[in-house]
Amino acid sequence: MTKRDYYEILGVSKTAAAEEVKKSYRRLAMQHHPDRNPGDKTAETKFKEASEAYAVLSDGEKRAQYDQFGHSLGGRGFQGFEGFEDSFRGFGDVFGDIFEDFFGGSSSGRGSRGGSRSRRGSDLEMGVEIELEDVLNGKKVTLEIPRRETCSDCDGGGSAPGAKKQTCSMCAGRGEVRVSQGFFTLRQTCTQCQGEGSMTDKQCPKCQGQGRVRKTRKLEIQIPPGMESQSRLKVTGEGEAGMRDGGRGDLYLVVMVKDHALFERRESDLYIEVLAPFTTLALGGKISVPTLEEEETLEIPPSTPSAKIFKISGLGLPMMRNPKIRGEIYVRVDVEVPKKMTPEEKELLKELAKLRGEITPQKKKGIFDRIKGNL
Ligand SMILES: [Zn+2]
Ligand SMILES: [Zn+2]
Repeated sequence: MTKRDYYEILGVSKTAAAEEVKKSYRRLAMQHHPDRNPGDKTAETKFKEASEAYAVLSDGEKRAQYDQFGHSLGGRGFQGFEGFEDSFRGFGDVFGDIFEDFFGGSSSGRGSRGGSRSRRGSDLEMGVEIELEDVLNGKKVTLEIPRRETCSDCDGGGSAPGAKKQTCSMCAGRGEVRVSQGFFTLRQTCTQCQGEGSMTDKQCPKCQGQGRVRKTRKLEIQIPPGMESQSRLKVTGEGEAGMRDGGRGDLYLVVMVKDHALFERRESDLYIEVLAPFTTLALGGKISVPTLEEEETLEIPPSTPSAKIFKISGLGLPMMRNPKIRGEIYVRVDVEVPKKMTPEEKELLKELAKLRGEITPQKKKGIFDRIKGNL
């Protein structure tokens, strides 16, 4: 299927400024929004199409890529746009306005006329990988997070230095306009000034009037002990910058705990398998068992069967809900059969087997009988 050109969809020229792209998108989104056109598939398609085009053209980086490569980026490119649910999150500032227009009516409930339209920044989500050992004491990680920051050139205002504020010609400074829709007259946020009532005569060149710019931030974050794999850690106020004084969104870290070579984890408990010589299991003795800290000595009582499980209390991982309490380490001890033996060792073992009546002609007792005999 051939895709329509994004500029064509939004009805803007290739050189259109960010503000014009946004304006055009708002107009199309209002017109084709599914809530306004219930059951109208064409409108829904148009709405999604416009949302996708806006998702790309409103993002400086993506727009530059699109200008260079068009739709031909294939799997990695603009198909990464994950349907229109996501466009709500990514472009909350634009959609928020639309929803208010739809459901809340006017901007009159939003405080003073022509005041700043603040909006909280989006939440971000990011994955981070840690070792099982890090679950024990927690870990300080340094992350590079690409996010939108308040533009330093214009302090988020979107105006170039020395620019003058002009009363918006479309709404005459009221921040809203009246639109007839059939029988109704609706009050809507002015699309020219975004409800500010005034406009700058010169946009800040650094952020193209957006008030925010993309930046990669280095952050040091302390991951607490006891985190389970796939759990989310909320870092308050480290999401994207808001619009005007809208406050930052939050950052969510999805913690992935790597598999360990020796231990298997179940919540706060650890499981490990170790081998002990036959003689130790038979006669009793001590073996050493690795933990996430120092090695522990495990007392093996005489006549210990193979695959017996021992518990080392309190040396497992901290519990996620209460890191002061630690789980257990469960140790499964299996018998170690020697791979190589000296002739002398073999002799001794044969002697023992003879003593115990274990050297038997093949037929005397099958393995099945022996199992039955044990029951
Ligand atoms: Zn700026
Ligand atoms: Zn206006």
